[in-house]
Amino acid sequence: MVSQIALLAGDGIGIEIMAEAEKLLRALDIKGLSLIHADCGGTAYHKHGHPLPKATLDIAKNSDAILFGAVGDPSCDNLDRHLRPEQAVLGLRSELGLFANLRPAKMMSGMEGSSSLRANISQNIDMLIVRELNGDVYFGEKGMRQTDTGLRQGYDIMSYDEDEVRRIAHVGFKAAQGRQGKLCSVDKANVLETSQLWRDVVIEVAAEYPDVELSHMYVDNAAMQMVKAPGQFDVILTGNLFGDILSDLASMCVGSIGLLASASLSQGRLGLYEPIHGSAPDIAGQQIANPLAMILSTAMMFRHSLDNEEIAAKIEQAVAKTLADNILGRDLGGLASTSEIGDAVIARL
Ligand code: ATP
Ligand code: MG
Repeated sequence: MVSQIALLAGDGIGIEIMAEAEKLLRALDIKGLSLIHADCGGTAYHKHGHPLPKATLDIAKNSDAILFGAVGDPSCDNLDRHLRPEQAVLGLRSELGLFANLRPAKMMSGMEGSSSLRANISQNIDMLIVRELNGDVYFGEKGMRQTDTGLRQGYDIMSYDEDEVRRIAHVGFKAAQGRQGKLCSVDKANVLETSQLWRDVVIEVAAEYPDVELSHMYVDNAAMQMVKAPGQFDVILTGNLFGDILSDLASMCVGSIGLLASASLSQGRLGLYEPIHGSAPDIAGQQIANPLAMILSTAMMFRHSLDNEEIAAKIEQAVAKTLADNILGRDLGGLASTSEIGDAVIARL
């Protein structure tokens, strides 16, 4: 079978870390894998006048998976919102129906020194946040208006329909089945109607997964618990807004931003895989960015879009070995360059 992978490096360190992911893919030498580059972000704006050109979107739509570096370019700061580099990833999410965002946060050897919460070192943290990505307050009607008394008022409507909740719930339960079999659904059902619906639908879906242990937590408590005892979580299932906040919190429970990968999945096989960090203009072009988040995103691609758990595990083990061998980038207190880290992973495949 032939699989096409779109490589969208984007801006800043996206370009350097994508080069390492590509090197790894070529070293794996997998039959039937074709790689195709396309421009996005500030790079695409400067070349083609738009952060997500039609040609790039077409390539993405015709691929089996998208590897995405990072977008963000300070030279575009004064552009209209719809021309900013960040629109590239937002456009891909909505155009491709990428409704499920998966962010694993696992403590690995080598991360300890960089964990912002040193107390966590003693905990076995291995959680997966499953965040809904196409609904909620981010996509509801929004605007500015004036009140009767002449005050400016901003509003954003929060809504979910039951189908949106159901499809993300299935993703969460299936993920839990492949892990420790525990799912914690996070909402604010004591206050919000959307959350009451969320909870009802999650309970309904749970009936199809009797092997998964379901619990519910209010989002404020979840934030506290994540700092207090992050080791208690397996899969966390939550909406777009709560997931946005909790997934950043989860990532910092384990450490360096340069190590954390993510997947954004659609109803079908197509997915987009990217590091959780941005284009890091402050360190771009210096070969000091850590490429491991990008490389671990590549592993997620093999798992979720290419149905190749064997290669996914092989990449993850090579990364773990690289860290255990103390080959660390600057973000982890080491001296290894971007390409040295990429080479070290390939050597350990
Ligand atoms: P965005 O809005 O696109 O998420 P951001 O403002 O959150 O971007 P990042 O680009 O993620 O910022 O960078 C935040 C900090 O983390 C910067 O100091 C950057 O140098 C550092 N950083 C990000 N990614 C890496 C990496 N792969 N290796 C080392 N340092 C990194
Ligand atoms: Mg950020």
